[in-house]
Amino acid sequence: MLNDPEIERLLENFRPAALHSADETVYVLRPDLQLAYVNLGWMRFAARNGGEPRISLKWSIGRCVLDAIAPILRPFFAENLGKCLREGRPWKHHYDCSSADLSRAFMMTTYPLGNAEGLLVINSVEQESAHTRSPHEPLEVLYQDELGLIKQCCHCRRVQRTGPEPSWDWVPDWVKSPPPRTSHGVCEPCFGSYYPTTPRFRKSLPEAFQTRE
Ligand SMILES: [Zn+2]
Repeated sequence: MLNDPEIERLLENFRPAALHSADETVYVLRPDLQLAYVNLGWMRFAARNGGEPRISLKWSIGRCVLDAIAPILRPFFAENLGKCLREGRPWKHHYDCSSADLSRAFMMTTYPLGNAEGLLVINSVEQESAHTRSPHEPLEVLYQDELGLIKQCCHCRRVQRTGPEPSWDWVPDWVKSPPPRTSHGVCEPCFGSYYPTTPRFRKSLPEAFQTRE
């Protein structure tokens, strides 16, 4: 089923056939965080979501999973995945991965494999419902900064309204198809909810998102 005896050996304490056909997005990482295996759920999820935001068909075996994560979040994932591998303890992380039509909360559970030989990552939907966010029109003039960039939260995918009263607005048209000049950040509510403080991660964030000791 997996066509890779090494991956099958690493997954011997799990049920490889069930993982392979599961609806959950499942993948195996090597210690250097390169993708060693993805399941059918990964491929179905990527196809349904047009490959965005963080999982895409182009992220195939051999790519480093951190390359599929927005740069601002890489230190957080690198630190926690590394810790899971080193300490041999599972790591759970909640995150938001909404589509234009559905609000979705996910749980990412990472299990250490073998003798620090890899990581098994399972992403399951915890909650899925219609959006209650008020939709806004994709009016670039309201969202462009002085460089013409539009900032999208790489977590909830809202975009930052610029001007005298900045806010983070839900613009479903840009979730389906982001404007060409989009940069990524983390909005303050997402940072507070999903990325509780770790000193190294805090240092990598823009000052506005840093919390005080
Ligand atoms: Zn957000």
